[in-house]
Amino acid sequence: MWIGGKAVASNSEEYTTILNPATGRALARVAQGDERDVEQAVVAARQAFTSGVWRQMPVNKRARVLSTIATKMRERFNQLVEMEVLNTGKTIGAAKGQVAQAIENFEFFAAAIATQRGHVNQMPPGFFNYTEKEPVGVCGQIVPWNYPLMMAAWKVAPALAAGCSIILKPASLTPLTALMLAEIAHEAGVPPGVFNVVTGPGQSVGQALVHHSDVDKVAFTGETATGKTIMAQAASTLKRVTLELGGKSPNIIFADADWNGALHAALYGIFYNAGQSCEARSRLLVESTIYEDFVETFVERAKGLRFGDPFDRKTQMGAIISRQQLETIHGYVTSALEEGATLLLGGKEQAVESYEGGYWYAPTIIGNVQPSMRVVREEIFGPVLVVMPFKDEAEALQLANDTSYGLAASVWTGNQGRAIRMAKGLQAGTVMVNSPFSAFPGSPFGGFKESGIGRELSLEALDLYMETKSVISYYGEHVLEPL
Ligand code: NAD
Repeated sequence: MWIGGKAVASNSEEYTTILNPATGRALARVAQGDERDVEQAVVAARQAFTSGVWRQMPVNKRARVLSTIATKMRERFNQLVEMEVLNTGKTIGAAKGQVAQAIENFEFFAAAIATQRGHVNQMPPGFFNYTEKEPVGVCGQIVPWNYPLMMAAWKVAPALAAGCSIILKPASLTPLTALMLAEIAHEAGVPPGVFNVVTGPGQSVGQALVHHSDVDKVAFTGETATGKTIMAQAASTLKRVTLELGGKSPNIIFADADWNGALHAALYGIFYNAGQSCEARSRLLVESTIYEDFVETFVERAKGLRFGDPFDRKTQMGAIISRQQLETIHGYVTSALEEGATLLLGGKEQAVESYEGGYWYAPTIIGNVQPSMRVVREEIFGPVLVVMPFKDEAEALQLANDTSYGLAASVWTGNQGRAIRMAKGLQAGTVMVNSPFSAFPGSPFGGFKESGIGRELSLEALDLYMETKSVISYYGEHVLEPL
């Protein structure tokens, strides 16, 4: 783990074996932390925060350290990509994009620090009031396994930019690049105690962060059910909480859309990262006049997706993170078929030559579904798509918004007015119009409804790591006698 500016063993002196999901073979041993390690990390983080060594560092210097983190990540780009591929079984193409975005995130927040400013407000005569921003304090940051380095960067960069001290808890299955990031940040000049990493299970390490009275904020990315538990638990110490949770995002294709672009985007929308994406477009809604043709072509294209060595640039789909996740995915497919849905493609484990011990699932497309089915309502977090027809804009909106989630939505149409009407009507934090991509540093990312609270990747994210202090002073000549 990484506590107080150095690599340390856990108090328990126990280790967890980390697997490569593409092969099912052991990859590394990582210290298994518990409440004692969290305690140590919180003490280190608090000391660093109180000392002012980071939060009071001149803003231009703090920005330079963040830029240096980005530079050092670029220098170790291939190593970070390799580790991410080995630890997640994702394709090298996906890993390269995600590591690049993690780096850009540090560059964005290095620049974003300069935007922080307070205000001078209207006051009665004789009174002067200004506000200023201060870092929230010690932050616990809990991240999932689907984009290990990118999710860490989304949280670490704005918190460091704001001047906070942090304790990062990576997912139990994927702690390796988070540890590399801590080392890089240290080399770049982040003072000891400002950035700590405690590895271990959510039930011990994560819970200890959520309950600790000296942690001021918890920032969590993961399942909606876990997020609800964390929010309730954080109430007892009134921690600030930001949550980036699950999704069941719709991808809406109108008959007037550019078919080729829409087909590529629909494939990417669900099969990128083997469907293990919070913003996966897992519900494909197609205008009924083109439904049969579009879905038939889509199924043909999905059949051709290439599996194989994750390090081979030609491989298009990687592995599932664990045997357990694979079984969860298959359970959803089975439940849909039991409820009367029709399997259009996949629905089974994928055999991959030379990777027999790994966890691979075939691209799966399910038709003939009802809005009440679990496969339509719940996040599966795997390469499973449901397809549904709609007849007009109103029905498209009704189906798209018929979910407890609200993370993202995409619309494909050649009609500009329709695009704007749909963007206004969709209940989602991010709406993509004729675009497959949902996340860019600078553009706020986060959910409506049960997809979360707060935003990442943006100036809004920086704000969520700061408190506003209002300073009121009196400059009048007359003594005030308020009593
Ligand atoms: P998860 O909720 O199981 O775990 C996420 C993290 O929380 C892990 O580090 C885990 O160890 C920890 N954790 C688990 N239980 C905890 C508890 N009771 N207290 C404290 N910490 C706990 O999620 P996951 O399976 O790792 O990730 C997949 C989920 O993440 C999906 O639902 C996906 O949609 C979501 N996700 C959301 C976004 C977003 O930006 N909205 C991005 C990526 C992933």
